[in-house]
Amino acid sequence: MPAPVCVDFHTHTTASDGSLSPAALVAAAESANVDVLAITDHDTLRGIAAAKEAVGSDLKIVPGVEISAIWRRRNIHVVGLGIDVSNNTLKAALLQQQNARIARGAKIAKRLTKQGLPDLYPAARQIAGTACIGRPHLADAMVKAGIVKDRRSAFRRYLGDGKPAVVRAAWAELADVVRLIHQASGVSVLAHPLAYKLTRTKLHELCRDFSDMGGQAIELHSGRQTAAETAALTALAETYEFEVSVGSDFHQPGHSRHQLGHHYPIPASLTPVWPALLDRL
Ligand code: AMP
Ligand code: MN
Ligand code: MN
Ligand code: MN
Repeated sequence: MPAPVCVDFHTHTTASDGSLSPAALVAAAESANVDVLAITDHDTLRGIAAAKEAVGSDLKIVPGVEISAIWRRRNIHVVGLGIDVSNNTLKAALLQQQNARIARGAKIAKRLTKQGLPDLYPAARQIAGTACIGRPHLADAMVKAGIVKDRRSAFRRYLGDGKPAVVRAAWAELADVVRLIHQASGVSVLAHPLAYKLTRTKLHELCRDFSDMGGQAIELHSGRQTAAETAALTALAETYEFEVSVGSDFHQPGHSRHQLGHHYPIPASLTPVWPALLDRL
């Protein structure tokens, strides 16, 4: 029997809101004995080439992306795996998403000034540098200004859903995101389905819609989670006949819930996305 492969299909680099450069992420994955690593930065493909170049072992890199989408006025994340990074339609759409991020960042900063904070936009832009800007960069700017102690507190007080600085972003519609991934030869994966804090009914509606749109898989494991969460996700995958993906959603070292390559066994009743993806590498 072949040795089981250790896969991680959801990770971030400094191309978006991760703290490790693509090369440093690859080194960390190699130390963690990961066999197959997908780079899935938010709305950008920029980290992928550097990650591939940095490989100094048998580690295989799957080109990926985590695309922000709108479903019924909510933000939903869709991971695209095995995408063709030279696909011009995908590249053009991601450029629009990046512009939406820049516009949203400025709006969030403006909201924050109404909360009595200084204008954090210039600092956030500077922290993001060439990265695809997101709320974590605004959080980092708050930490730097001594307003909060860490990213978590920034989300809890200002940036999280339902908090004062929430603004709508001009993300693409979910159906369009699914189509975009497929036309770029990718596999579409509904990211961390339990992270959206939907009621049971709404979660089922999301899965039904995603399935009707042609969505292929859901994340069964998204970092460390409880047995009850795994059971709920297993049931969703069975009900809607989704394939399953697994990923740590790694952003930075030292985060015990999001360790590279960490996940639990896949129930025999489910079909993992990766055999087909590995065939293509
Ligand atoms: P954005 O992509 O700009 O909407 O920001 C979402 C990102 O913020 C997620 O991908 C996480 O990396 C991060 N994030 C979301 N919620 C929290 C939280 N409560 N604490 C710290 N980071 C968070
Ligand atoms: Mn993130
Ligand atoms: Mn996400
Ligand atoms: Mn993610």
